[in-house]
Amino acid sequence: MALEKIDIDSLDPARTIVVATGNMHKLTEIEEILSHVLPDVTFVALGQLGDFDDPEETGTTFLENALIKAQAAVEETGLPAIADDSGLMVDALGGEPGVYSARYAGVHGDDAANNAKLLANLTDVEDPARTARFMSVVALIDVDGLVTYGEGACEGRIAHEGRGTNGFGYDPLFLPDDTPGKTMAELTPEEKNAISHRFHALEALSAKLSGEDA
Ligand code: IMP
Repeated sequence: MALEKIDIDSLDPARTIVVATGNMHKLTEIEEILSHVLPDVTFVALGQLGDFDDPEETGTTFLENALIKAQAAVEETGLPAIADDSGLMVDALGGEPGVYSARYAGVHGDDAANNAKLLANLTDVEDPARTARFMSVVALIDVDGLVTYGEGACEGRIAHEGRGTNGFGYDPLFLPDDTPGKTMAELTPEEKNAISHRFHALEALSAKLSGEDA
């Protein structure tokens, strides 16, 4: 579905937040959670305001990369912006693939190759040691440069083979602790959104914005 284009000049910086993602699901998820604490704010996707190149994700942490993406959107639009960065951390691999999750096997976004490499690297690792977590950081930067961010995790372990067709990325290999016997790719989007790392990061951000976390 093509996104409705919006004229930047028609937007009020005090009541607008740009979501630096091309993923409509993320826009909806962010909007649903944050609209409770920011009821007067309109959330718009960066792509609705123009064609902007993705900044290079040169950070070594999820927070650094989320800030790089949010800051680029603030500079491009002159509006407050939110961005998220996420990935999978596997204990037996010392936290890999981490910030390199999207390009673990070399090609950005090649989920099949990334999953194959992960399984190959865990060949000799027994079940109890296959613990892992998805991590997410969601960062908001306002036009004065003030940063607020939330961090979230989804704990689980890595399966021995992929199962399920929903979701994306490492979902077929990830067995969340919250849904015994099911991989993340066997959950409905609603089930995944209720336990996901992004959900927990947004809840943490939401708590900070509403002052509950103070
Ligand atoms: P991004 O931060 O959304 O760009 O995600 C970075 C990479 O982490 C993705 O390309 C996936 O490989 C992995 N990843 C992040 N979140 C998820 C998830 O919810 N399920 C599966 N893989 C994920």
